[in-house]
Amino acid sequence: TDGVQLTANNVASHVKHMPLCMAQLQMALNKEKHLKHWGRLQYGLFLKGAGLSLEDAMVYFERMFVGKDFNKEYSYNFRHMYGKEGKRANYPPYNCAKIINGNGPNANEHHGCPYKHSTVQDVTAMLNKLGIAPSKQKGIIAQQQSHNYQLACVEHFKAMYPNPPTSVYANDFGNHPNAWFKSSVKASG
Ligand code: SF4
Repeated sequence: TDGVQLTANNVASHVKHMPLCMAQLQMALNKEKHLKHWGRLQYGLFLKGAGLSLEDAMVYFERMFVGKDFNKEYSYNFRHMYGKEGKRANYPPYNCAKIINGNGPNANEHHGCPYKHSTVQDVTAMLNKLGIAPSKQKGIIAQQQSHNYQLACVEHFKAMYPNPPTSVYANDFGNHPNAWFKSSVKASG
């Protein structure tokens, strides 16, 4: 295993292992008690890839989507993501290229790659929330400003783990949000 078993009860506490695109969706979910279509897909498939079961995903999102008729409005959506409806396809979690080159978020949407789709101010605010010291944010922001989105993400990882075990670098954490998550779990363990 990846050393972590995600459940409905511990998803939120694993935000520290998430790259900014997914941490952003979790923070938005906490605040707005809802995610729009593309956010549900990006975050739902990421959590599936990180090992959250369909059953736990349903429990978690039903709990978080306060005031919504979850079964009526969203359960099909989540079952579909897990390949239980429609074509029954095994939809893979999005990689960085897909997220970066996909449609950016409109107002009240939180999907996408923050290094590409958000301002430096917004990225700074998120990094502050995640407890990254301002002195450690410089390298991240410099890469964002140079439009090297994935390198900005690698800098975020390095800011958190200045000396990760060598094996972590084999995980390709700058190319896929799930690799970043795995690497973070590994580097912190
Ligand atoms: Fe997410 Fe990839 Fe952007 Fe990092 S570079 S925030 S993992 S899409």
